[in-house]
Amino acid sequence: MKKVGMKTQNFWEGEVCEYCGGSIVERRVTIHRRVRGEYVLIENVPVGVCVRCGMRYYAANVLKTIQERLRGRQQAERQVVVSVYSL
Ligand SMILES: [Zn+2]
Repeated sequence: MKKVGMKTQNFWEGEVCEYCGGSIVERRVTIHRRVRGEYVLIENVPVGVCVRCGMRYYAANVLKTIQERLRGRQQAERQVVVSVYSL
């Protein structure tokens, strides 16, 4: 995670997984966070994913954007009901 800024299509090109040495490709994923006791989903998050072990890497600017979204006054785009099971 030494690169910052510059959101390009090939952001992860040439990067290798620090755990297994596999190459990293960009994927759009949905991640979840717990914010102030509330469970939220963030869709369409660009992450680097190791093709070998599946380890996810987040670019610093992406993490910053997520934090700003969650902290900001911006309304969520929509709400979904989440079913929760407990054993
Ligand atoms: Zn890996």
